[in-house]
Amino acid sequence: MRIGFGYDVHRLREGRPLVVGGVRIPSPRGPDAHSDGDVVCHASADALLGAAALGDIGVHFPPSDPTWAGADSVDLLRRVARMVEGEGYVVVNLDVTVVLEAPRLSPHVPLMRERLAHALGIPPSAVSIKATTNEGLGEFGQGQGVAAWAVVLLGPRA
Ligand code: MG
Repeated sequence: MRIGFGYDVHRLREGRPLVVGGVRIPSPRGPDAHSDGDVVCHASADALLGAAALGDIGVHFPPSDPTWAGADSVDLLRRVARMVEGEGYVVVNLDVTVVLEAPRLSPHVPLMRERLAHALGIPPSAVSIKATTNEGLGEFGQGQGVAAWAVVLLGPRA
């Protein structure tokens, strides 16, 4: 068994699409990012890479590489899952917390779980996503950013 942890944050900007956990969510503001800025996918990918000690997404998908401009981060997560499988592991479960002041993410969580589970090749019952606000505190509470923390457990491939 191997455990991994990942974190990601993006600043929010007017007029950018908001994509969280592979789901496009109606919002006047979205992440200011090179890719789609999906913090749930990025934190999850870093957790998988961390568990397998394979570096981080910045190493594998450098922002300097135009290939990844506007990239679909569910696809990046799928690629990372394949890398981890190539090292002889399977994903046992994934648990994510995402912080966003507005809009409310909870109605979108079931679809996020499906999208991530599909990318990882595991059932949605093995993917947990919790959405919370920052209770108005600090920069996140003022709606300046979106952040996610993820932990993953890997087991040996059968
Ligand atoms: Mg990111």
